[in-house]
Amino acid sequence: MPFARSWLGLVAASVIACLAAPSSAQEPSETDFEDQWVTGNLVFLAYHEVGHLLLDQVMKVDQQGNRLAAEQSADDIATWLISPDPEEEIESSEAVAAIGGWLVQADNGGDTPHPPDADLYPDAVTRAARIACLLLGSDESQPNAFAALEPIASLSFDLSDCRTAYEALDRSMEGVFGDADEIADNPVARVRVQYDAPSPVLADAHDFLVESRILDELGEDLVDYIGLPVDVLLRGASCGRDSPGFVYNPARREIVACYEEVDWFLFGDAAAGQAGAERETAAADGLGSRPRRIPPRQKPPSRPPR
Ligand SMILES: [Zn+2]
Repeated sequence: MPFARSWLGLVAASVIACLAAPSSAQEPSETDFEDQWVTGNLVFLAYHEVGHLLLDQVMKVDQQGNRLAAEQSADDIATWLISPDPEEEIESSEAVAAIGGWLVQADNGGDTPHPPDADLYPDAVTRAARIACLLLGSDESQPNAFAALEPIASLSFDLSDCRTAYEALDRSMEGVFGDADEIADNPVARVRVQYDAPSPVLADAHDFLVESRILDELGEDLVDYIGLPVDVLLRGASCGRDSPGFVYNPARREIVACYEEVDWFLFGDAAAGQAGAERETAAADGLGSRPRRIPPRQKPPSRPPR
């Protein structure tokens, strides 16, 4: 898993050195740690799509009208939903894995998205820095529990703005969620989980997604914890060679976890992405989590009638 190792180099060196407390418990193996990294990144992408879902079904925002703002909001909502409490173990958290994931994407040229996606997404470094900045802003204690993330946040933001940015996000999220205590007795979300059969080349990605229970646990969170009247199918599926990561499709009311994305986090640029179909219906007309890594092909000119 070359990306997991890159992440360890990029983030863990600073984060773990500063945050990891010596533990008498059994040390997790490297495989556990890499699985945790992949899972953390996929959880962030899934919650990014939950952001699009909430913007669509609860906040009624026109996301196609301002994609850049919608993408940033979806990242912010994801960060707010998965941010670890300051007293939790931070270095293995999903939010920190996601910071590493975006830095790795930047390192791999993810900062120069292909048209027509170029203007729709914040650049990958800014996405990493913004998660870091919001986490810093979420903790008022001294020293800040997330202090190890300061160098990352300051890549794109003035650290003195992070508290204000978090407070604004927190106010807007509290407005959306209201009083969450009364949810458990009266579930209002309608959520189904489905895994489409994978092609043989994506079988490992399918199996990882199923075994990770990311979609199943997300479904439970939507019903028991998020507790808003959303209606959504959480679906594992192939999205084709120009997969947008994960995707929320408003018309179909579904969040698709693309097997190609799981495969990429597990194996890097393996054969799966290239071997897939050009574009599957699962990826059509949706709000993706990132720019496509492969530029879409031009449509062939239509043949004149004989
Ligand atoms: Zn998105």
